[in-house]
Amino acid sequence: MPQQVKDEEKWDSVKKYKITKMLNDLSKISGHGTELVTVYIPPRRPIFDIISQLRNEAGTATNIKSDLTRTHVQDALSKTIEQLKLYKETPDNGLVIFCGAIPTGKGIGTEKVELFTISPPKPVQINLYRCDDHFWIDHIKEMLKDDKVIGIIAIDTQETGLGILTGDRWQTIETLTSGVAGKHRQGGQSARRFERLRDNELNEYYHRVADYAQKIFIDQFTVKGLIVGGPGPTKDNFVKEEYLDYRLQNNIISILDTSYTGDEGVREIIDKVNEQGIMSEFRLMEEKKLVKKFMSEVHSGRGLGIYGLNEVVDKLKSGITDLIVVTDDIELVKLEAICKKCNNSIEKIIDKEHLIETKQNIISKPCPNCSSMDYMIKEKDFIDYLEELSVLSGNRLEIISSKTEEGNQIQSLGKIGALLRFKPIN
Ligand SMILES: [Zn+2]
Repeated sequence: MPQQVKDEEKWDSVKKYKITKMLNDLSKISGHGTELVTVYIPPRRPIFDIISQLRNEAGTATNIKSDLTRTHVQDALSKTIEQLKLYKETPDNGLVIFCGAIPTGKGIGTEKVELFTISPPKPVQINLYRCDDHFWIDHIKEMLKDDKVIGIIAIDTQETGLGILTGDRWQTIETLTSGVAGKHRQGGQSARRFERLRDNELNEYYHRVADYAQKIFIDQFTVKGLIVGGPGPTKDNFVKEEYLDYRLQNNIISILDTSYTGDEGVREIIDKVNEQGIMSEFRLMEEKKLVKKFMSEVHSGRGLGIYGLNEVVDKLKSGITDLIVVTDDIELVKLEAICKKCNNSIEKIIDKEHLIETKQNIISKPCPNCSSMDYMIKEKDFIDYLEELSVLSGNRLEIISSKTEEGNQIQSLGKIGALLRFKPIN
């Protein structure tokens, strides 16, 4: 069953994949009564408040006629309350909890009450308690759609708005005015002197914008990309002359024409981003870059781009992979059979559909080391396994959509590939 996801994990493709998988598992569960508890807690709702609501619900639940359903609801509620007591205060983005009796496959009455907590990637927007025959997963699914923070700059010679976009939420963080005179000089000033002064002032203003951009987009929010917009050629010059920190400069996703600058300009850019589907294209662009980097390494023949399950796992275990790309349709399990007598371990990575038959196969044969037939079997989702090993060696793990041209390239190489830090000595 899915695991609890810890707060401090950052929102990357792996975490997203794991939660999506957990939600898929949860979506298949149906209670045999209205007994599955869903709680969405928005950031500012105090923990004690939700606990007292759940206590009330537990009181009401005593009226449920079916013994089994009543026990399940009461167990789910008390387990949720116990979990909430662990929090001193509501987490910054709020909290989502699913708790209920999960079928074990051994028939009615053998269900086990399990609890799943998610600290979402952005603030919970609803205050919801439901006890139903299914978990209410749609809201959290919606929240997972776009989890990247994108910086927005709406600039012209008079004013600049700096904003951020996270999924479908955005805000303007700062607006700056230039104080630079318009294009037309006052009488009595020489045209050249006027131009020179104006250029100096503009230069100083662009540097100021870039300083704010660094403070907001790098120090305060770590943005994954930047969109620059504004009326006329100012935005283009600002980008072309590279005022921005290189980390921002190299991550410009798009340059857009707008009618406004400042706060209004930021809003206008957001509208265009939504209209043009820029964000979903952005993730695809990232994936494209990764796959391109990987494929060019494979084709270069330098031996740093490798692929295929066994090869990649082997190199990951030796700690020499820098990046692993896997398509999201890989359905593998790591199976480990440990001999209880001598601790000899047999490891296999197999297709989910062959799980039972492979297990049977292993335990029906004596341990190659001591001939004992007594094994302990451990199963682990393949992606979890990759992640564990990645943490140990500092490997970057990226899950790629299998539904794109780039995903297809990785699919044809066995759904998994890696870039090595250096070529191993054979
Ligand atoms: Zn043995």
